[in-house]
Amino acid sequence: MIQDIYPHIYNNTFEPGVKPSNDDIIFSFEEDQVLMKDEHQFYHYHEISKESICYYLFSIDDTKFFLADLTSLNHIKVSFRTMRTFEDQMLGFAAITAWHLYRWIQDNKYCGKCSHPMDFDQKERAMRCPHCSNIVYPKISPAVIVGVTNDKGQILVTKYARGHYQSYALVAGYYEIGETIEETVKREVKEETGLDVTDIQYYKSQPWSFSSSLLFGFWCKAHGDQPIQMDESELRVARWANRDEEINTLDDASLTSEMIQYFKQGKVV
Ligand SMILES: [Zn+2]
Repeated sequence: MIQDIYPHIYNNTFEPGVKPSNDDIIFSFEEDQVLMKDEHQFYHYHEISKESICYYLFSIDDTKFFLADLTSLNHIKVSFRTMRTFEDQMLGFAAITAWHLYRWIQDNKYCGKCSHPMDFDQKERAMRCPHCSNIVYPKISPAVIVGVTNDKGQILVTKYARGHYQSYALVAGYYEIGETIEETVKREVKEETGLDVTDIQYYKSQPWSFSSSLLFGFWCKAHGDQPIQMDESELRVARWANRDEEINTLDDASLTSEMIQYFKQGKVV
């Protein structure tokens, strides 16, 4: 998965006032585009103007990552989505995590309560209104990825009705307010496929900055011979797949792909 960058170590401890060193990496974005020196390289601090205002994001090993406005430099733009399979996975993970923080900062330039320009808080990773003290933390939306299996040892696979992702997926959806995350699992499976599920078991989580999400992977069972009633506004495919079937997924960056592989390897009964 994209966050599996071991032996590299990601460190997101909040450290205000950290200054960049020459070899540190400076990310810059415009909407959903990443600004790069060329298609293989991001900018280092020694390559940018010393007048640039750099906001510290996080570090990986000894490299610190900052956000700055590099639009005046000679750059190319690439879609943030290409970071999903960037040649250096550690840098791809860093870039998409930085983009998540960039989006949060862009969306909170002004206070939602009093419209005053927001400042960066000095004690924690948050935006603070200097006028009314409103605090806004990074937006992170919980969501579930659900591997549903049946009594025949099959797995429920889906294809989304909309969007750019046309490979096989699992039932997925956002947490709704007032429910437990296990209730999210039951509700999403019921809404998308009409199935009632039991035996809900937590599997793994994944930070998924492409949609400002934290994904929770679960396994569960749909017992008996329940018919699939697909929600056509959400899905264009919802069907049972056998373990030995070829199930194409986009790449191995996502929790969805890992869960499908885990099932195919016979690790879920
Ligand atoms: Zn305010």
